[in-house]
Amino acid sequence: MISLTEKSCPCGTGLSTDLCCARYHNGELAPTPEALMRSRYSAFALNLCDYLLATWHVSTRPVDLSPDPYTQWKGLSIIKKVPDFKEGPSQADVGYIQFFAYFKERARWHRLEENSRFVFEQSRWWYMDGTPKVMRLKPRRNDSCFCGSGRKLKLCCKE
Ligand SMILES: [Zn+2]
Ligand SMILES: [Zn+2]
Repeated sequence: MISLTEKSCPCGTGLSTDLCCARYHNGELAPTPEALMRSRYSAFALNLCDYLLATWHVSTRPVDLSPDPYTQWKGLSIIKKVPDFKEGPSQADVGYIQFFAYFKERARWHRLEENSRFVFEQSRWWYMDGTPKVMRLKPRRNDSCFCGSGRKLKLCCKE
């Protein structure tokens, strides 16, 4: 079980944000679709709209993106990577990451499931598009919290 603290990266690696996604938010290029996907999830959690726009492929990028004060991103779990890229020279120019992202909206829990498509162009990865499906969750108070802390829901992520 990964122990999460205030400084933990929202993407759930257990690393501090500085050692994890903040590097990419600060300008380093994400080396794999997974790294880009994680850093974009963290950017949603931290409301870094500029980063989201800057990593969105020009053909699908929204004109504008404004922070959403009602959505709290609470946890990420990656289900599948196709192909499973290692760092280093790119082995293909398209990659897919399927994931669950848990969020709370006005005290209600939801799970977003998406298979995101990433393309490698101009020597870097871009988010192209995905197939988002949102499901309302009805957890019980004694279930483990979706944030990955290992604590019961009733003792965690209450705000
Ligand atoms: Zn991260
Ligand atoms: Zn929690």
